[in-house]
Amino acid sequence: MNYLSVADALEEVLKHAKSKAVEQVALHDSLNRVLAEDVKANRNHPPYDVSAMDGYALRFDDIKDATPENPVRLKVVDDIRAGQMPNIKVLQDRAARIMTGAPTPQGVDTVIRVEDTQDDGDDVLIFTPPKQGANIRPMGENLMDSKVVLTQGTSITPGVLAILAMVKKKQVSVFAKPSVAILSTGDELEALDEPVDDNKIPDANSHALYAQCKALGIEARLLGIARDNPIELKTKLSEGLKYDVLLASGGVSVGHHDFVRPTLDSLGITMHFWRVAMRPGHPLAVGTTVDGTMVFGLPGNPVSSMVCFEQFVSPALRKMMGFTKLCRRTMKARLTHDIKDRAGRAHFVRVTLSKDEQGYTVTFTGTQGSGVLMSMAVAEGFIVVPEDVDSLKAGDEVQVQLLQGMDFQEEQDT
Ligand code: AMP
Ligand code: MG
Repeated sequence: MNYLSVADALEEVLKHAKSKAVEQVALHDSLNRVLAEDVKANRNHPPYDVSAMDGYALRFDDIKDATPENPVRLKVVDDIRAGQMPNIKVLQDRAARIMTGAPTPQGVDTVIRVEDTQDDGDDVLIFTPPKQGANIRPMGENLMDSKVVLTQGTSITPGVLAILAMVKKKQVSVFAKPSVAILSTGDELEALDEPVDDNKIPDANSHALYAQCKALGIEARLLGIARDNPIELKTKLSEGLKYDVLLASGGVSVGHHDFVRPTLDSLGITMHFWRVAMRPGHPLAVGTTVDGTMVFGLPGNPVSSMVCFEQFVSPALRKMMGFTKLCRRTMKARLTHDIKDRAGRAHFVRVTLSKDEQGYTVTFTGTQGSGVLMSMAVAEGFIVVPEDVDSLKAGDEVQVQLLQGMDFQEEQDT
């Protein structure tokens, strides 16, 4: 079997990732989920034209010639607060004091900010005319009654959640999350609750994968460790097939004790591929059961397992949850080191990001070996060195894939 390119492997994975059923959740639980229904407004908002400022509602024609030397004087005939209706129509050479959000009275077409005026007894002085129509929010600017305001497929951010609240959606239809099981495999592995044994390797993958799922909003089930024997593997892998997605790490290569692929075969799973032209990451086996469970046989090396999760599992899980934006955001940055590489495989290089006068730069997090978890642990992103590139120079522009939670920086750019 040939090596698949990263792009082809992702396409193949996504072909088998199907969005889940729809479920109803309480408004607050809908955050970070994907809307599974179109939502219509049940009112106009604002319900009528309202003032956008604390100020005076007036007729533009009356004040269009005002200057600081020759201010225009208007009689204040009303005082309108938010939630109150105006008492009277505003006639020529008159104005109404008005608060932000209060309905504009009949007769006016413009609101001037209180800061640009001067009170004078029962009158107000205007020195400079605002633009005609200024500071009035038109009826329905936010929501138009009966119009669709949110469509199926919308990611529910805090702002979207606020709109759902405004249209009184106490229960929201969202796409269900897939159930995920995680299994580590290897005779050498030591579980978190086992005592330290110097001849063993502490299980990192179960917990890295658990955390990667959790970062996507999925509470995965840990199935523990399966030893490298076909019988135990078969039992534990079958347990995992009860879930929508099974993530098994280790034992997927061509070693003497790598039983994961033959065991998956014996369980009747259709394998789609198991070799991807990437580093770290290869080998990665992907298959599906007749019931639609997706099985990922991830590499045993902790960094490789995490990189494969980011490149393939995460987009698949996001697709199942109804998201349309599946891949990590990328940005351009300049290299601070040379990279010598072997062409033929895409290389995901772990980096941190910094900023200088010319923009963003990327720096290696340390040794890039696929067992060096520390350089993954502190990474803010991956540089993706394409398959056909074998060297890059310091100063070259590269594409950086940002890792979850790394879209924060020290200071605000203004
Ligand atoms: P394998 O793919 O099973 O040959 O494993 C490749 C390397 O990853 C070996 O050095 C394993 O000890 C290591 N490894 C496999 N599974 C885990 C795990 N769950 N946690 C930490 N290291 C692992
Ligand atoms: Mg192994």
